[in-house]
Order: sequence, then C-alpha cells, then structure tokens
Amino acid sequence: MQGMAFQTPKKICGLAGLFTGIGFAAKGGRKPQKSDCGFIPGPVDITCDEGKIVSVEKQKVAAVQKGSFDATGLYATYGFIDSHTHTLFSGSRGDEHFARWAGDDYQRIAAKGRGIYCSVESTQQAINERLIDKCKSSLNGMLRKGVTVVEIKTGYSGSATEELRLLELLELIKTQNKIPGVVSTYLALHALPEKKSEQIYLKEMTDVLDIIAKRKLATFVDAFPEKGFFSNTTAELFYKSAQKRGLSFKVHCDQLSDNGSASQFAQMGATSIDHLENMNPAAIKILAATDTVATVLPTVSLYLNLQYANARSLIDAGCIVAIASDFNPGSSPQIGLQLPTLLAASQMKMSSAEILCGVTYNAAKALNLTNQYGVVSKGMFANILLWESEAKPGGNGISILEDIFSSSKDPSIVLSRGRTVYSI
Ligand SMILES: [Zn+2]
Repeated sequence: MQGMAFQTPKKICGLAGLFTGIGFAAKGGRKPQKSDCGFIPGPVDITCDEGKIVSVEKQKVAAVQKGSFDATGLYATYGFIDSHTHTLFSGSRGDEHFARWAGDDYQRIAAKGRGIYCSVESTQQAINERLIDKCKSSLNGMLRKGVTVVEIKTGYSGSATEELRLLELLELIKTQNKIPGVVSTYLALHALPEKKSEQIYLKEMTDVLDIIAKRKLATFVDAFPEKGFFSNTTAELFYKSAQKRGLSFKVHCDQLSDNGSASQFAQMGATSIDHLENMNPAAIKILAATDTVATVLPTVSLYLNLQYANARSLIDAGCIVAIASDFNPGSSPQIGLQLPTLLAASQMKMSSAEILCGVTYNAAKALNLTNQYGVVSKGMFANILLWESEAKPGGNGISILEDIFSSSKDPSIVLSRGRTVYSI
C-alpha cells in the first residue's frame, strides 16, 4: 500500500462492474434481493470530490483519463461497516477458548474470575499508550480487510472513572491515521464487579451520562442483560436515563438464554439488538414491525459453540439484519468481516445479496449513519472496496459476490473518503 497510500483519486476509472446497493436503501434494508445489489456492468466510473461520491456513470468511451485511478478489471462494492466490536482492551484469553473447547462453559469460566473479569483487570492495568497502540493495530488490520467504519464499545472497566478514561482514549484513537472511522459506544453494564450491588453500579454508571452526553463522548449506550450479568429491569432503567439525555441505545440480547430482551428493547426503540442466538421465535414478528436492526454475530457461535441466530427467519419475516464481528478477546478474537460473512453464508443460509446488505447498508443503519454511508450513490462518503475476481459476472453480478464471500477474500484496494488507504 505504501506506493499509493493516501493519494486522492478524483475518478475511479474503468471498473469491470459495480454494486451500488441502491436497492437496499430503497427497501430500508428489508428482504434484500439480487436485484437490490444494483449491479452496473463495466466499464463504469465513480467520480469523487472532497471525500464524497459525486457521480456513478457508465463509461461512454472505454479509456482511462489522465490523473484518474485505473480500476480496469476490478469490481467495486461499498466499504464494509462493522457495527459491533469491543476493540479497546488489553490481554489475551486464548487459554479460555481451549478450556471451553475441552468442555468448560462460558458462564462457569466467568464465575471463576476469568472471562470478562480477566479482560477488565488487564485493561484497567494497561497504560493509555499501550491501549491506544493495541487498538490502533487492530483497527489497521480491519482496514486492510475492508472495514471502513467500525463501532467500538467500552466496557472492560469496572467503574465509571475507568469508563470515562476508555471513552477519552477512543477520542484520541479517532485522530490516528490508517484506521476506519470510529463510532463510540458506552457499554456501561457489561460485567458487574465483585462486591458491588447491581443497584449501586447502575447509579454509578448513570451518574456520568450527563458528562458523556455533554462532551459527546459516545453516540450509543449499551448493556448486557443476561443471567449472571445484569437484569432486564436494570438495563431498562439505564436506557431510559440515556434516552432522556439524547443518547441512542444498543442491546446485547438473548445471547446465552431467552430472557425476553429482544422484544422488550425493540419495542422500547433500540437502534439495534445484537446477538439473538436464543431469541424467542415469537419475538421475530414484533421485531419486524420496528425499525430496530437485528445484528447477528456468527463468529461468537463458532467460538462458544452456541446455536446460530436464526437469520433466515429474521430476514424472511422482514427484519433488518446486519452482520458484525463482535471482535473481543473472549468470544470472537478475530478481526474483520470475512469469517462472519462466511459463517452467515454457510451456517445461517444467508444469500450473497443479504450478506452484502448486512455489512454495508444495514450495518450503517445499525449506527444511524445511512444518510452518509452504506451505498454507492451521490452524496455518500466515498468508502469503496475494489475486488479481483475471475468469476463471470452475468447479468446481475451475483457470481462475483458469491466468489468474494465464499472465499473470504480481502479487497485488493480500500478507499476511505475517496483516498486509497490500502492496496496490495
Ligand atoms: Zn458484544
């Protein structure tokens, strides 16, 4: 990438084909079909200015114009968006993965002081520089895999003071180069520290909401209502306080058990409810009637040996489904959306059109960003991935997407706001 890093192409010229994703937006991300991928066969050009897309047009005369970026033979999609990660942490928990694979279970490991508590301790002990460096390195790896926008949650803290430190570190991280755009989420109710009651911890975490809202340290708040962690009631009280201060909310829902959180929090106006491995089928209809995004995290099922969220039923019922990595040390220690999308295809039976929608438009929706990100059209930020493929595109280009998602390909070139930020 060194050779062409950070040049600013005004025109991406001569693409072999382009997936605009315009049909996803037209349907609000529900029931994505092949035709919604908006395939335009090449040669096609994208013109950018000041980081945004100005025009997308079929080339009239096949030629690369002087000063433009020659994309002959490459296919383009919108840049991936990873709408659920825990990228700010210290320490490794590789031993736990092996313990679980040998038969131990997630909640029992947490009860022994490992699990989330282990990450809380190592994150608390890590100095700022170490946390920034580690986070930056992960983010750089994501960018190479085509993630151009990423949500990062706090949560490995154990106190409000530490939470504020993590949120402030995220503000510093946002100013670094060669990383995706970052959206901050205040994950206040993640792991209840020993010797603190749920009520007292709730008050401590709610008390700093004014500072967070006033200083715009987070766009979202989040919680983990689950047996052994926090009750639905505590989470609801917290979300109500956040809503009063103009903060939107996300929920870790029905991951380890069906506790009714999916329907409860979708009806309360959550921007997204995430996980859903044990979601009650009766809640699907309720969710489909809302604008709440259902975010599935298939790598967690792989690592924790859980059943996969029922993405097929969610999509068929008309829910808006996004796919995210849940990158974190304990249940998904891998970066990027290549493995999640492969599992979405092979284990969740999602089509390539549903997958593309799930990591672009619907992921943007899960971050309230669809007015600026998610589809290749005029006025959107020019976050674009260029792909090599030997598949024959046919009329709708689907074979190109199937090639990309079945082989867990990395993009050849990543553009963020019109700039080349990675190139093999
Ligand atoms: Zn998570």
